[in-house]
This record gives sequence, structure tokens and C-alpha cells, in this order.
Amino acid sequence: MDYQHRFYDGSPCSLPAGKVVCVARNYYDHIKELNNAVPTEPIFFIKPSTSLRPLEQPIEIPDYSSNCHHETELAILFEKKLSKADAKDVDNAIAGYGIGLDLTLRDVQQKLKEKGHPWEKAKAFDGSCPLSPFIHKQNFGDPQNSDLKLTINGEVRQQGNTNLMMNKIIDLIVVSSRFFTYLPGDVLLTGTPAGVNQLNPGDLLELELAGQYRFQTSVD
Ligand code: ZN
Repeated sequence: MDYQHRFYDGSPCSLPAGKVVCVARNYYDHIKELNNAVPTEPIFFIKPSTSLRPLEQPIEIPDYSSNCHHETELAILFEKKLSKADAKDVDNAIAGYGIGLDLTLRDVQQKLKEKGHPWEKAKAFDGSCPLSPFIHKQNFGDPQNSDLKLTINGEVRQQGNTNLMMNKIIDLIVVSSRFFTYLPGDVLLTGTPAGVNQLNPGDLLELELAGQYRFQTSVD
């Protein structure tokens, strides 16, 4: 399915599907659950535009993995170019906020990490980034104080708040824009709180952002 960014209120969105800049290990409780080291600076990686899917489209787990994890994350959509940004430039470049999944093939990633290889097969595959529609920034509350919640088959699996990020949103954008220019239609995924776990065929997922925006999807 071709992906197109959407706004929650149904207003038209002509921003093209761009790249997704992601940050690893941005919530302390998630670092602990995977026994990872606390990074001294943000760890960035990129998913290509072909990773994007509408959140409600059923998730397809690639056949080369038997352990696809959900990572529930605040997503930020850019509408203006941003390069080597100062903090004052950031807000003007943002179109809105949404919620997404950084799907991660944990078994594949583990093998790649052991060999010191890049993560793309585990994190950047087709469909690895389902995204909700975006709420216009002027209608969204405080993105740095927003609840994130994932419920699977009626059971709460992930629950966190963006105020627990180790690197705050503005710093993530300023620092990442030194390396990667954001173009209109690009997205930043801001890391996952604890509770990551395996998805199974037939799972029904509900993602909730800021206590009021709810989206549903399933696993094929
Ligand atoms: Zn992630």
C-alpha cells in the first residue's frame, strides 16, 4: 500500500513520505529491560520512506524473523527543512505529533549486534514503521509531557510519559539535524519506554497518545 501522511482532523496533508530518524535508548527503564549500556550521547538510526505504513493496516512480520517486538513511540512530523538547527528554529519546522511503532526484529537485531553489523534488516524493513495520523501542533498539548500507552488483546503492555525521555525532544532535533537534514515530510521517532515484547499473529493493538487519541491495528 502506498503511504501518505495524514492529519487527525482530516485536513489535507500534501507532505511527501520521507525518511524516519529514530533514536535508540532514550528511556532509562527500556535500557534496563534490555540490559543495554546508558549512552553518553543519543544513538540515531534511520528508516527509509518504504518503512512507512498507515497504523491501522495489519502488521506483517517478515518471514526471516520469529520475534518481532513492538516499540511504542511519539512521532514528530516536519513540514519545513531543518539543518544544523538552533533550538529557536525547531518549533517552526514541526507540523504535528502522532504515535508510531518502531517494529524491531529482536532475534535478527541480536545477531547483527553480536557481529557489529548495522541494524537495517531488523529495523528498517518494509512496513517497519506504522504511523498514526498527526495532530496539528497547535492542537496538541505538551509533547514533552504526553502519555504513551499500548494495549494488546486488552492487556496494557507499554505505559510511559514523554517527560521520562533522557534526551528531550528539542535536543534530539537539534543534535540529529547536525548529521541529517530534515526535509518536509520527514519524521522523528523519539524512543520507546519499557515494556517492549513480542507480537503474535492475531494480536489486537490499541495505541493511545496523550490520554485522548486512540488508534487500533492488528497483526496479520
Ligand atoms: Zn525504538
